[in-house]
Amino acid sequence: MQILYKSTRGGEEGVPASRAILKGLASDGGLYVPETIPELDISLEELTGKPYRHIAFEVMRRFLTDFTEEELKHCIDCAYDDKFDTPEIAPLHRTGENTWFLELYHGATIAFKDMALSILPYLMTTAAKKNSVTDEIVILTATSGDTGKAALAGFADVPGTRIVVFYPKYGVSPVQEKQMVTQKGDNTCVIGITGNFDDAQTAVKKMFEDRELSQKLAEKGFRFSSANSINIGRLVPQIAYYVWSYAKLLEQGAIRCGEEINIVVPTGNFGNILAAYYAKQMGLPVHTLICASNENKVLFDFFRTGTYDRRREFILTSSPSMDILISSNLERLIYKICGDNAEECSAKMNALRNEGWYSITEEQKEQLKSFCGGYCDQNETEQTIAHIYMEEKYVIDTHTAVAAGVCRKYRESSKDPRPTVIASTASPYKFTRSVVKALKNLAEVPENIEELDDFELADLLSRITGTAIPKAVEEIRIAPILHDKVVDASDMPQAVCDFLF
Ligand SMILES: *Cc1c(COP(=O)(O)O)cnc(C)c1O
Repeated sequence: MQILYKSTRGGEEGVPASRAILKGLASDGGLYVPETIPELDISLEELTGKPYRHIAFEVMRRFLTDFTEEELKHCIDCAYDDKFDTPEIAPLHRTGENTWFLELYHGATIAFKDMALSILPYLMTTAAKKNSVTDEIVILTATSGDTGKAALAGFADVPGTRIVVFYPKYGVSPVQEKQMVTQKGDNTCVIGITGNFDDAQTAVKKMFEDRELSQKLAEKGFRFSSANSINIGRLVPQIAYYVWSYAKLLEQGAIRCGEEINIVVPTGNFGNILAAYYAKQMGLPVHTLICASNENKVLFDFFRTGTYDRRREFILTSSPSMDILISSNLERLIYKICGDNAEECSAKMNALRNEGWYSITEEQKEQLKSFCGGYCDQNETEQTIAHIYMEEKYVIDTHTAVAAGVCRKYRESSKDPRPTVIASTASPYKFTRSVVKALKNLAEVPENIEELDDFELADLLSRITGTAIPKAVEEIRIAPILHDKVVDASDMPQAVCDFLF
């Protein structure tokens, strides 16, 4: 069956997957959604014992129906290779109480965004070929830290692409900066700007809209594109690992075929948990999708009350990748519960932009019964890291800890005993300072951790927990600096031209 895509704002329909991937955002400002969700019409038993790539193919081919088998397999083979530090790609780690951590952090930047950003460049270049686009694709990104590095790692040395990343020179952590400025690959360019993240973001948006600049690029055989998280090419690869985790549980005899599981996802932009929802819609036996938030609990409140309200204080927490008040991917779910009514969906999104809030009806709320929201404050997050280390000798990062803490609270209040998969979104070595702090009372942690730099903290974490420092951290420790350009935000377009021509 052919799957086509349409915009949540009603302006486009009948769009093939490859075009949706190339465009990223629809012309009317909406997000692309599949017109129907394909069925997972293959027995789950058949998927047991199969490698990650095989399952990724079975899931993705049902969504990206205008890609040939050969094209899609090529993309998957290029993405899920030895850039990952384990051949399993996304191993499951069992802890007590019928709970498994799905480790999504074995890629180049030791966080879950690698799962999608390692394949997106190949999906994009394949999509370009299919649509007779001969221009080289130029990815432009403004980053506050992590996404920039994950995009750089994904696009580095991918033929037919260039990538330019802007970051606030004085607004990222030393390790984040080091990760980016040591990036290899002739097609990569990393530039610091003297302003803050918003300045960088605004200037990038302006470049996307600058017709004169586009014209100039087109003459030289380039076109801009974006790798941001609302691209359907980032969402679809994420569905695969939920199906994979189910097949793994089946293979281990932990569940019976058809038995329902719960899934807990530490959530920011709502992309990862939406992928789990799509897996459920395909027919994966999932009972409850538990949406875990930190103190920026706008989604917890939404699932409880039916009102989404961003008019609140923005809190900086120890799980920074979840510090978000506008979860962009939620729009896809809102569109669905509005019965695919684009007008109603647009009205809500406009209300959110202009007034800062919107509500859904009781009937719409009824349709969200498979979701359950929960949150953990920073104390609970710290305690969860300590608790799981004490009981299981297993080290988790702060984001995963938010999910694990919410999982525990959900179990206590609901008495729901179902086997549960927790999406583990970052290596503890990515948020070392918070993790070491959480373990302070359990292990021999010196008093002076405030004075240690991130590499010294990694050594310390390795020593006290007996876990190995990931290759990604070791590599940047000694890597030479390859990018040292710094410009004012107003000079960003010129910097892009200097790199390209
Ligand atoms: C991006 C990110 C999240 C949030 O994922 P969404 O898809 O935006 O909800 C959670 N944890 C980590 C470590 C992340 O990098």
